[in-house]
Amino acid sequence: MTTSDEANSKPRRLGRQRKRRVYPPCVACKTKASFAWTCRKCDFVMCQECMQDNLWGMTCNNITWTCPDCGWENNFGQR
Ligand SMILES: [Zn+2]
Ligand SMILES: [Zn+2]
Repeated sequence: MTTSDEANSKPRRLGRQRKRRVYPPCVACKTKASFAWTCRKCDFVMCQECMQDNLWGMTCNNITWTCPDCGWENNFGQR
């Protein structure tokens, strides 16, 4: 008789939660949003709301947005 069943009764580790991505506060409204657009080149951060407000000045094709800080073209598809 073996005691191999013991391997299956290992206690599961509790309290291990999935880490949510935390975005830095928006440069425009300073709020911490659950999602924000971030520049890939510098640390520019803009929340969805401010991006909508400033969309006219950030993008001309709705595919890429230009970082006002460093001028880097960021893709809307890349988060
Ligand atoms: Zn904002
Ligand atoms: Zn930038």
